[in-house]
Amino acid sequence: MIERTLVLFKPDTVLRGIVGEVLARFERTGFKIVGMKLIHATNEVVGKHYEDNVEWMKSLGEKTKKSYESKGVVVKDDVLTIGKRVRQQLIEFMTLAPSIAIVLEGHDVIAKVRLMVGGTAPNNALPGTIRGDYAFDSYGLADTSGRPLQNMIHASDSKESASREIAVWFKPNELCSYARVEDALLYRKV
Ligand code: ADP
Repeated sequence: MIERTLVLFKPDTVLRGIVGEVLARFERTGFKIVGMKLIHATNEVVGKHYEDNVEWMKSLGEKTKKSYESKGVVVKDDVLTIGKRVRQQLIEFMTLAPSIAIVLEGHDVIAKVRLMVGGTAPNNALPGTIRGDYAFDSYGLADTSGRPLQNMIHASDSKESASREIAVWFKPNELCSYARVEDALLYRKV
C-alpha cells in the first residue's frame, strides 16, 4: 500500500526558521521525499487548495462550533459563514510568505503523517506531534486576532485529497522516483 501525500509547511514554519527541524522528523520516519519546493503561493493556488466547496466549508464551521461548544461558548454564526470566513483568512495567510510544498511517499503515509502532525488546534494537539510540540495557537486566539489557526502544517487527509492536492502544487515531472536505502529492508527489494 504505497501512497503519496501532500505536506505543506505553512508560512509560520518558514518564518520561524524551523523547516529543517520539522522536515527531519518525516525523513527520520523513513518516508521518501519525492517532490519539494519553496513557493510563495498566489491567491489562485491557495484558492484551489482550500476549495470554494460548500461541504468542506461547512465541515470547517462544524469542527469550530464543536470546539467552542465543548468549552461552553455559544457560537451565533452558522457553519457555512464560519467556513467561508476561515477560507478567506487561509488565503490571506498562505499568500503572506513562502511555504514549502512536499510530496512524501511510503506505506500508509497519509494516515501516519496526519498522526505525526496532530490535531487541528495546537492547544489540543498531543505532545509528541508537530503541532503539539511547536505551536500553542487556539480557535479563540485565532478568532480574536482575525486570522486562521497557525498550526504550521497541512497534510492530506485521504487518498482522494492527496491526489487532488498534489496536482495543485506539482506538475507530474516535478516528482521523482528513486530508492532509499530502507526500501531494501522494508520491501525486500534486494
Ligand atoms: P486540518 O488542517 O487539521 O486538516 P481543517 O482542514 O479542518 O484542518 O482546516 C484547514 C485549516 O484551516 C486548519 O489547518 C487551520 O489552519 C484553519 N482553521 C480551521 N478552522 C479554523 C477556525 N475556526 N479558525 C481559524 N482557523 C481555522
